[in-house]
Amino acid sequence: MRSSRALLGVLAASAALAWSSGARAALRVSRDAADLAIPAGQWRVDVEVEPGALTTVLLVGEPDGLSHFAVQDARVFDALEEDGRLPRAASLIVPDGVRTLGLSLEVSSDVRLVVRRASPEPVLPRDVVELVGMPSPLVRDDGYLLERPNRYQFARPDVVAFRREGFRDTRARFRRDPIGVVDITQWDGRRPALDVGNPRHVSHDGGRDVDIAIPSTVEPSLQRDHCEKIVSPDPRRGEGHFTAVCRRGTARAFDATRLAYLVGRLAARRVLDRVFLDEEFLEPLAKAADRLARHHVIPRHAAAQLQPEGGVMMHLPWHTDHVHLRFLGPKGRAPVTALAHDVEDP
Ligand SMILES: [Zn+2]
Repeated sequence: MRSSRALLGVLAASAALAWSSGARAALRVSRDAADLAIPAGQWRVDVEVEPGALTTVLLVGEPDGLSHFAVQDARVFDALEEDGRLPRAASLIVPDGVRTLGLSLEVSSDVRLVVRRASPEPVLPRDVVELVGMPSPLVRDDGYLLERPNRYQFARPDVVAFRREGFRDTRARFRRDPIGVVDITQWDGRRPALDVGNPRHVSHDGGRDVDIAIPSTVEPSLQRDHCEKIVSPDPRRGEGHFTAVCRRGTARAFDATRLAYLVGRLAARRVLDRVFLDEEFLEPLAKAADRLARHHVIPRHAAAQLQPEGGVMMHLPWHTDHVHLRFLGPKGRAPVTALAHDVEDP
């Protein structure tokens, strides 16, 4: 705690010096620094990075305090629904040859820049680990794209690694379009969109629950209904609550083979706790998994997990337009709550 406070002081001092030197002043975050206080104004921030490392930058401040934000010096594709609010997150696997990530930003009130660097490995953790942002895809062959604001896409590093591997291999095998990554976990470890008072989920805390779009035979594979949806009151949860399921026999444009391959690869590694999907899609998925196993594309034991009695696939209302993957292992820890506390504590 003490050393991080001292570090903050030094960084804040260098920020003040830089601020006096020009309208768009330059700040620098060195390789071993994690946190920078930035006063209101226009800034260029150079973040020292390591090629190959997953780097997450998170700008924390008043929700409406952001006027401009862009990542320079590397191609970072913003999420399709990035909404311009703070916190603003951007994550990427640093490309070869890039040593500095330039951020260009303008803020109307004081903000904090939190930087995290990780090396995601596809290995389930035994202990609690810190969450990182899902990196933007760099090329189409990465096989996915980000749909929701990156601040709602914090995950355990191993979950990031497993999913990147799965998307890349699925793209390599089928040469079909990238699959949308929807909600994971909010940057503070809680459920996505709690920060705007509109949480969309009952789970999704701790960075091991991941929503992805249903792979579609009719591109693009973004979050949308793949059946005729029936919405009705939910008596179990009481007044004002609704439930939604597919009308049986109305599945459309559902790419069962691609989903069976993607989920089957994860099942083969024995890292899935549960996969939630509407009942309408479970049988075609199970059949596709069987077919892939017969052709030795996925292992038998993986296809077995995707069968109705396999213990992994489960019907859940509202899963008419996306697939919910829950990974095994402990919930992760948020990267920023401790820092926020550290700063406010006198
Ligand atoms: Zn979900």
